[in-house]
Amino acid sequence: MLNKELQEIKREPKKMSDTDPRIVIIERGALSRLCDILGDYTNPVCVSDELIYTKYQQYLEDSTGTCPAWIMAPNNSQEEIPKQADIIIGFGGGRSIDTAKLLAREYSIDWVSVPTAASHDGIASDVASVIQNGYRYSKKCKSPIAVIADIDIIEQAPTILRKAGTGDIICKVSSLAEWKLAHDHNDEEFLEEVYNLVESALQSVLRNDDLESLIQAEIDSGKAMNLAQSSRPCSGTEHAISHAMDRRNQNLHGIQVAFATPLCVHFLKQVDYTKHRPIDIQEYMRDRDMPLTFEDMKLTREQFLDDIHHALRIMGKRKRYSVLEHLNVDDTDIIKACQELNY
Ligand SMILES: [Zn+2]
Repeated sequence: MLNKELQEIKREPKKMSDTDPRIVIIERGALSRLCDILGDYTNPVCVSDELIYTKYQQYLEDSTGTCPAWIMAPNNSQEEIPKQADIIIGFGGGRSIDTAKLLAREYSIDWVSVPTAASHDGIASDVASVIQNGYRYSKKCKSPIAVIADIDIIEQAPTILRKAGTGDIICKVSSLAEWKLAHDHNDEEFLEEVYNLVESALQSVLRNDDLESLIQAEIDSGKAMNLAQSSRPCSGTEHAISHAMDRRNQNLHGIQVAFATPLCVHFLKQVDYTKHRPIDIQEYMRDRDMPLTFEDMKLTREQFLDDIHHALRIMGKRKRYSVLEHLNVDDTDIIKACQELNY
């Protein structure tokens, strides 16, 4: 199953101008602009969750002048949608957006991403995160034709979701540097244009993490993955460690990837693949009250070591080169680095 999915993710580089989402609207009251997009369709289906439905169903229907069929995002399995459905609106957090992606793939119809939180870079990507038999993996779907990010809605989301979204961008310090390393030493495909897109998304959030910049950076990262037809530009060892942490269902994706980032940057700095210092990333995280220590994460050092071993096995299976593999680090090196970085 996993191998089949991975094969589908390979690989003809696309052109920036041909890549969805072609319509991106980030503003207050953006939801009302959804009707311009829905004008070409007759039977919209809106995938959401109970909380968002209760809070915003009326707002969506009033501001767009449409009454879509509503379905609630399931935990794991896929929903049935009405036969005549011709467009899907993913309206909610990660689960609703992922379900919309999966349904759009299943029924071969378009979908629009309407995130209600800025918690991760999947809001514009064509990859859904799927849990099967307790393991999380990525499933290639379709890119959204549009992203409608209504600041009035997104700013109401819990603060922790915004921190997670920030984490899923600052981790690009690690993923981008490792991608270059993997290209040089493991012949992994590298695309300059995609690298630059993610790098400028990262820089914009390091400079200014207001909500608009964060959402734009998440959309650009999603677009970069669509262009590369791979999550590699946005996902390195720090992501694999987070996926290993998911075995215990610990924390939000962006919080976990950010937690693993200073460690990865520490090793990437040793091989001169990044100009960033782990200490600067940690300071940025500390300023935003993001977890930095095992204690903050309610994690033991032994669990973290086990997660790293598991992460390297995941990367090995996916033929992705890790800086930890490159440096042949062992437990002693990792423990020493964690001590130096005050994990
Ligand atoms: Zn991520």
